[in-house]
Amino acid sequence: MTDPASHISPSGKPRILTGDTPTGQLHLGHWVGSLENRVRLIDEYECFFLIANMHAFTTRADKPDGIRRSTLDIIKDWIACGMDPDRSTFVLQTEIPAIAELTWYLAMLLPFNRVMRNPTLKTELETKELGDNYSFGFPMYTVGQCADILIFRPELVPVGEDQLAHIEPCREVARRFSQTYCGVDPQTEDADYVSAGGLFPIPEGKVGRVARLIGTDGVNKMSKSLNNAIFLTDTFKQIKKKLGGLYTGRQTMDEPGDINNSLFQYVRAFIDDAGRVAELEKKYAEGDNIGDGHIKVEVAEHIDRLLGPMRARRADFEGEKGDEKILQILREHTRRANEAAEETLYLAKQAMRLDFGIRELSFPG
Ligand code: ATP
Ligand code: MG
Repeated sequence: MTDPASHISPSGKPRILTGDTPTGQLHLGHWVGSLENRVRLIDEYECFFLIANMHAFTTRADKPDGIRRSTLDIIKDWIACGMDPDRSTFVLQTEIPAIAELTWYLAMLLPFNRVMRNPTLKTELETKELGDNYSFGFPMYTVGQCADILIFRPELVPVGEDQLAHIEPCREVARRFSQTYCGVDPQTEDADYVSAGGLFPIPEGKVGRVARLIGTDGVNKMSKSLNNAIFLTDTFKQIKKKLGGLYTGRQTMDEPGDINNSLFQYVRAFIDDAGRVAELEKKYAEGDNIGDGHIKVEVAEHIDRLLGPMRARRADFEGEKGDEKILQILREHTRRANEAAEETLYLAKQAMRLDFGIRELSFPG
């Protein structure tokens, strides 16, 4: 079998697609859930990193200024945390019309009830208090996300645990497309779809080191729209204050504590010295003269050490001059992203007998 990626990617490397919605700034949940993997895998894969700015409108249609601000800020965070624009392609969703077009075609292959049953969608409706008043576009975003991913024909999608439920319909629709329009036998193994003539590799989700980091409210997943996040731009003072508010219910230093509480999730996620973690766990479980406040400061120091170099890199992109640098990067990357996306759209339309060839795409050139 030939390497399925080699006919897709001119670099010969398999691809990654992943991204963020510009509904706020990036936080530690993003770092442990997805960003860290992106940085680690940037050279092993051909990476496409997407800003889902169209999807931001599904819950914030009345806040265009905020979405624009957040789009630029997130890209600054990306560069700050090590997602090097010279070794990857940044994709601004609204500049890639092929994504919207593919969304329509994929929407015909996904049962409506399948979309509405998605557990992440249900959780989001609850935590974001959208009630019955969500837009038609809101559930559409789950179909749009299939197109975001498949238009780049990636093999791997690094995401937090909450997004795995969105990868599943994407995998289903990828199989269905190739069965319906490329004549692939439904019995085909996922790994063989491309060699069997299918258009899309069946992408796999890759969850980060911490699947779901809890927020500083100690209840919900850390989320940029829930006011429970430690942002990548936060100062030591802010980090300490936010961690200080983390409720454990423990009263005194000699009270045995629960090492599975939210504070210890932070201990294990951010103190990178296994010996020290084990020591803290032992003392805490035994109530051996160790206060929550002390542990919080220690965790805050480790987080600050992680974020320090990010703050330094971000300093090159401050203010309007920084915005202009980001726009310059996006202009160049958008050309590359459109080329890759239009190649897939061309092949998809060909498979669907829609190859009238009247409108020119950048592929086949
Ligand atoms: P929103 O509240 O607007 O949904 P969010 O904070 O959930 O924002 P997304 O843009 O939806 O962020 O997610 C971007 C990526 O980061 C996804 O892969 C998601 O799974 C991951 N992620 C987000 N929050 C966490 C978290 N607390 N722990 C681990 N991964 C996370
Ligand atoms: Mg989310």
